[in-house]
This record gives sequence, C-alpha cells and structure tokens, in this order.
Amino acid sequence: MGGRRVLVTGGAGFVGSHLVDRLLRDGHDVICLDNLRTGSRRNIAHHEGERRFLFVERDVQSPFFAPVDWIFNLACPASPVHYQSDPVDTVRTSVLGMIHMLDLAKQTGARVLQASTSEVYGDPLEHPQTESYWGNVNPISRRGCYDEGKRCAETLAFDYHRGFGVDIRVVRIFNTHGPRMARDDGRVVSNFVLQALMGRPLTVYGDGTLTRSFQYVDDLVEGMMRMMETEDFTGPVNLGNPDEITILELAQRVLRITGSRSEIRHLPAVDHDPQQRRADITLARQRLGWSPKVATDAGLERTVAWFRNELAADGRGEGA
Ligand code: NAD
Ligand code: UDP
Repeated sequence: MGGRRVLVTGGAGFVGSHLVDRLLRDGHDVICLDNLRTGSRRNIAHHEGERRFLFVERDVQSPFFAPVDWIFNLACPASPVHYQSDPVDTVRTSVLGMIHMLDLAKQTGARVLQASTSEVYGDPLEHPQTESYWGNVNPISRRGCYDEGKRCAETLAFDYHRGFGVDIRVVRIFNTHGPRMARDDGRVVSNFVLQALMGRPLTVYGDGTLTRSFQYVDDLVEGMMRMMETEDFTGPVNLGNPDEITILELAQRVLRITGSRSEIRHLPAVDHDPQQRRADITLARQRLGWSPKVATDAGLERTVAWFRNELAADGRGEGA
C-alpha cells in the first residue's frame, strides 16, 4: 500500500492538506511544496517534524527536482476571489507549474495527477456535464485566468502523454468544502456558514436560482487516491457530488443546520457566473468504483462544526 515518494504541490492548501494527511496515513513519504499564496503552514502544522514529511516553501513557477514516484499537482488558488486577485500569477501557476511537474515526471518516470476543475466546462450548455463535453468558456472574462489556465494544463498533460509517454491522470473537481477552507476565500459554503454563525446576513448573489453541487473533501481525496492507484486510465474524470441544489436552497440548509436566525440578503448577480453545474459521475463509478459517500447535508454539518470550533477558539461566533 504505502512506501511511495510523493510530491504534493499546493499541499498547504485546503484540499492539499487533507491529501497529505491521507498519504501519510497510508504510509507514503510526502514532500509538500507550496508558496503559501492561499495556503497556510497551520494546515500542515500537525505533520511538522514527522520523519516521512517535508515542507518546501517554493513556487511551482520554478523548476523543481526530487526523486519521486507520484506527483499530485494542486498548486493554484481555487476560489474566484483569490484567483482573480492576481490573474497573471494564476495563469503562470497553472501553465508553468504544469510544465515543471510534467518535466519532473518525464525525468523521474513518476505518475502525475493534475487537479483540474469543473470550470473547464465554463457556463455549460450541456447538463449535467460529462467528460466528453468541451465546455463553454469565455476567455476574456474575469474567470478566464483560472478556466483557461486549467484547460491549458490539461492540454499540456495530454501532449506530454502522447509525445513523451508521461503517465498522467486528470481529475475534474467540482465544488468541494470541508475543514481548513480559508475564511476569506469568498466561496459560497464558507461565506454562508461564517455569516450564519456570526449572525450576519447570508449574501446570495442574484436571485439564488443558480445551481451547484457540493462534495465533502474526504470523498474527493478518496477519488483522487483511486485515480492515482488505477492503471491504464488517464481520465479526465469528474469528481463531484451529483446532488444539485440552488444557491438559495443552500442558504436555507445552512440556516437550518446552524440554527441561525440570519436573514438571506440578495446582492447583485456576478458577471459570467456559470448558471448551472452538476457532475455526471458515470465514468468515475465505472472506472474507479467511486461515488461520494457523504450526503450533502451530512457534509455541511461537518463543515459547520469545524467553523464553529474555529470561531469559538477566536472568541467569535454565536452570541459573541
Ligand atoms: P487552496 O487555495 O486552498 O489551495 C491551493 C494551494 O496552492 C495553496 O496552498 C496555495 O498557497 C498553493 N499555491 C498557489 N499558487 C502556488 C504557486 N505558484 N506555487 C506553489 N504553491 C501555490 O485551494 P483548494 O481548494 O485546496 O484547491 C486545490 C486544487 O484543487 C487547486 O488546483 C484547485 O484549482 C483545484 N480545485 C478545487 C476545487 C474546490 O472546490 N476546492 C474545485 C475544483 C478544483
Ligand atoms: N455565491 C453567492 N454568495 C456568496 C458566494 C458565492 O451567492 O457569498 C454564489 C456564486 O455567485 C456562485 C455560487 O455561489 O453562483 C458558487 O460560488 P463559489 O465561489 O463557491 O464557486 P464557483 O462554483 O462559482 O467557482
């Protein structure tokens, strides 16, 4: 099972830190490479000093060498607020980071998994989204730096695979939440949960009829591990929860789960906001035997519990 030398870029981020936990638990050696643009040492502090764990503060925009067997390439800010704060850096991270990780895989013979995204489907004209759909992305919108960077990274992965035989895996991740999401990342789950726990209005952009589906981080990590462990399957494969709900419904569920009396406040709609999104996970079921195990509300309950503890530790939150 264990015993592999694994590089996780973006390992100090939300998803990356959970993946690092899992890899160490499974007995692998882990190098976590991160420039801390949106991640935090705190997310991996519990591993500092462990013999099988090494943190390297470094940018994937520079080449990197280590003798590794597996590379998980997660380095890239994921929330719209973060990735739009420095869009050129976001493109450079996706594109140069992918080139450097593929070069490393070419040198070492490592298998490399790219954390791609449902954003490659843009504002989708097909619903639900299957992997064969090519997407509907506006390259000049504010989301373009992220969407096109991730699309180019997929292109690079397949060109290195075809051209140099690099062993690639591509997963397209749909909205994910859980402990260690950054409080300031502006994503809808963290915003709503924090707003509800702090007694502030829940900010719904537009009329709240847009849809998403929300998977819990443990399910995602399981899917990524299965993808890495599966032979003869490059992907791309969708990893997400097919349970689609409107943003207004999400707000109502968060109010119910937190027991908050916050109001729901509608703010102006965001430009180029994808109208609907739902993962078709038929391929993941067939090839990986994977489907999410944590139901939407059960996942939200866990995320709420984590944020509640965080706020309590700061002396903030309900009644404070
Ligand atoms: P995150 O922002 O918490 O983590 C990203 C990590 O990458 C951070 O630790 C950040 O410091 C690091 N990073 C950013 N630029 C870097 C660079 N140039 N060099 C080195 N490190 C860098 O985001 P996350 O939610 O954990 O997302 C992880 C990956 O999964 C991302 O690639 C993201 O695009 C992808 N993804 C996430 C979601 C989601 O819902 N969370 C959905 C789709 C795809
Ligand atoms: N959203 C919202 N209120 C918020 C944050 C987000 O209504 O406080 C909406 C956002 O406009 C989008 C959806 O929730 O329609 C999901 O946003 P998020 O940033 O979490 O992820 P996206 O799927 O857009 O990348």
